[in-house]
Amino acid sequence: MNIIILGSPASGKGTQAERLSKALNLYHLQTGSLARKLAETDARLKEIINSGELIPEEEMSMYVINFITTEIPSFSNILFEGFPRFVSQYTALESFLRTKGDDIDAVISLEVSEEEAVKRISSRRMCSKCGATYNLLTNPPKGDNCDVCGGNLIQRADDNEKSVKVRFENYEANTKELIDFIDKKGKLIRINGERPIDNILNDILTTLKQRHVTA
Ligand code: AMP
Repeated sequence: MNIIILGSPASGKGTQAERLSKALNLYHLQTGSLARKLAETDARLKEIINSGELIPEEEMSMYVINFITTEIPSFSNILFEGFPRFVSQYTALESFLRTKGDDIDAVISLEVSEEEAVKRISSRRMCSKCGATYNLLTNPPKGDNCDVCGGNLIQRADDNEKSVKVRFENYEANTKELIDFIDKKGKLIRINGERPIDNILNDILTTLKQRHVTA
């Protein structure tokens, strides 16, 4: 089973992806953290990411497919977060998985307004060690450090109002076409992201069951 979770910056997709991957025993492939890892040794990627822009779509597909090939030999049971963002990335992933006898089973679109996203962004924190994400308002850590590994919690370099606006506009512009494309395939599940975290997770799990994606 392979599932994609889509959502604008600060839609809560990171939090839901973490919980969903645990609940369904899926590998959580977060392309934002993959990109940040690659950027540690690539100044061009670092500049793109910190400005809030996207890595060229085909280049990012190549990074993701390389990562799956080297790190996830089963080519299955993956929860994709942050990828695909374009129709070209969806079709590249679908073609790749099909050559391995697998497929994309469902796509969750977590929906929040731009106003809500900008409000949430200033209280977002990320673990500098393991990448776990928190929100001081909606999903706070138990103490001052990361609940998972004890690492320092930091604010992402691209979590500022200017960058969030660029990322939100990019998301709206690019992902609308992708969402329509997936909807036509009958694989889209729209979820209201402006509710308590547990309600959203339950809603996703129930819908996946109803659609026979999970048992
Ligand atoms: P995210 O954590 O998903 O907001 O991603 C952080 C940054 O990583 C983005 O602003 C992009 O620069 C890069 N990135 C992540 N996923 C993709 C993708 N599917 N296509 C292009 N760039 C991406």
